[in-house]
Amino acid sequence: MDRREIAIIGGGPAGLMAADILSRGGHSVTIYEAMPTAARKFLLAGKSGLNITHAEDYTVFVKRFGSASDRLRPALDAFGPSDVQAWAAELGVETFIGSSNRVFPTAMKASPLLRAWLRRLEAQNVRLLTRHRWVGFAENGYIFETSVGRKVVRCEAALIALGGASWPRLGSDATWTPLLRDRGVKVNAFRPANCGFDVAWSETFRERFAGEPVKSVIASSAAGVFSGEFVVSREGIEGSLVYAHAASLRDLLERDGKAALLLDLAPGRSAERLARDLTRQNDKASFSNRLRKRAGLDGVKAALLREIAPAVLTADPKSLAALIKALPLAVLRPRPIEEAISSAGGVCLSGIDEHYMLKALPGAFTAGEMLDWEAPTGGYLLTACLATGRAAARGIETWLRQQR
Ligand SMILES: Cc1cc2nc3c(=O)[nH]c(=O)nc-3n(C[C@H](O)[C@H](O)[C@H](O)COP(=O)(O)OP(=O)(O)OC[C@H]3O[C@@H](n4cnc5c(N)ncnc54)[C@H](O)[C@@H]3O)c2cc1C
Repeated sequence: MDRREIAIIGGGPAGLMAADILSRGGHSVTIYEAMPTAARKFLLAGKSGLNITHAEDYTVFVKRFGSASDRLRPALDAFGPSDVQAWAAELGVETFIGSSNRVFPTAMKASPLLRAWLRRLEAQNVRLLTRHRWVGFAENGYIFETSVGRKVVRCEAALIALGGASWPRLGSDATWTPLLRDRGVKVNAFRPANCGFDVAWSETFRERFAGEPVKSVIASSAAGVFSGEFVVSREGIEGSLVYAHAASLRDLLERDGKAALLLDLAPGRSAERLARDLTRQNDKASFSNRLRKRAGLDGVKAALLREIAPAVLTADPKSLAALIKALPLAVLRPRPIEEAISSAGGVCLSGIDEHYMLKALPGAFTAGEMLDWEAPTGGYLLTACLATGRAAARGIETWLRQQR
């Protein structure tokens, strides 16, 4: 058995998966993690149920990674959605497929899965050294800042899996960017993905409706047409329906300086039907009553209409119906990356070989969200982090064999 020392830098899902594979292969593996505990973002993901993968048709699944789909395909083919479910089951965690084909652990949290995983790693003799922050390169080694000062680690191969740039307080703060850039690795600027957006709400609207969900609407953008719900926040809009459009809105804002979501506030009725219903009105009825009785809109939906298009008050039924079916909600800017579910940007995919080794740093591999790919929410992020962690581990094994 080949027992050569491998350093895994970063104890998130990508790093833990690589440690799992390599230790099972008999290698001596140490995980170096900056935070006092590993996988904090994974645990936070568990707060919303831990959507671990997605059970839609695989040909659709692999397209969710946009321009990175082809590049990630071999890793996903080798460890796809059904493998994620099998892996969780192996760790004693059953999963179920929800109504939208999203896959969750039955317990709807991450801690039982993480506990079982860390126990297995320990049984496979993986060392987890927390409070070890990677801060630079040394001659044939990596420098770590620890509670007792700096230390240099020499290893035969390393996996650098430090995550993206969202939620930096959980550990992935992208402070590694200049370290890799200085060594000739191209790192694209980080940008928020799966994020909310600022909207110029009036003070009255903000005070009255911040925190209110806007349910059962359809939102369209260049990303497509999706139904669901979003939440009005003090600053703008948040929630799964917004995240589905986030990459497209962000890119439009960067390119044109403006972007809007088109909202259909009454998905069950056509514009023609709405116009007809709004025409059958009692002249004495107030605008709010007309909207409520004839179009079924009240509360936050009716307020949105008035907030975004004040002219609705005097609009004829046809124009009013058209606005209800296609209300342009202009967004100003993405919310800061610190609040985003994930990030776009990171190590440029052209800078790694097919084994996930950094072309500029032979012997150093990379995986997970620190690579420049993005995907919507729906379990795609974790699946790709696990799959690329596994692919990089296989790459390390191949590379070590070649070094003999
Ligand atoms: C609120 C929230 C909910 C989410 N929900 C889901 C979901 O339901 N489904 C889904 O698929 N995805 C979800 N995600 C995204 C998912 O959690 C991430 O994509 C995934 O954790 C990334 O894995 P990773 O291993 O690449 O990086 P990370 O999980 O970020 O791990 C990187 C690790 O590296 C460590 N590190 C960083 N710098 C250093 C350094 N210099 N030295 C040593 N260690 C360092 C960090 O402390 C961290 O532990 C969610 C994210 C958030 C924020």
